[in-house]
Amino acid sequence: MSILLAPSHNGDNSKTNDLVYIEHPDQLMSHPELIEKLPKEYLLKLSPYQLEQFWECLSNKLKEDSDLQERRPCYEHYNRPEDEIHIDGPAPPKYRCYVCQANKKVYDT
Ligand SMILES: [Zn+2]
Repeated sequence: MSILLAPSHNGDNSKTNDLVYIEHPDQLMSHPELIEKLPKEYLLKLSPYQLEQFWECLSNKLKEDSDLQERRPCYEHYNRPEDEIHIDGPAPPKYRCYVCQANKKVYDT
């Protein structure tokens, strides 16, 4: 999943800047200044784990986006001691977490 991103350039939009070609999301870990420039469409394609890695670098506008919030992994309800099913592997995103979804229905009504 690749993307071209323009690095920050001190507010001067008239200059053309070298674009940074990101071939794999992991490369963004060494370009934290580019993470806040990621469009929502790109973030939605990341795995929950990758999204969580970038979360603190995102703009507040994106952090408040419910589509993105739902894609963060749910560690809160993940392999709790009372759960009958133990999940091997990464935590599921909140939109696939049955506890989160059940809570959501309560708030919706
Ligand atoms: Zn949950």
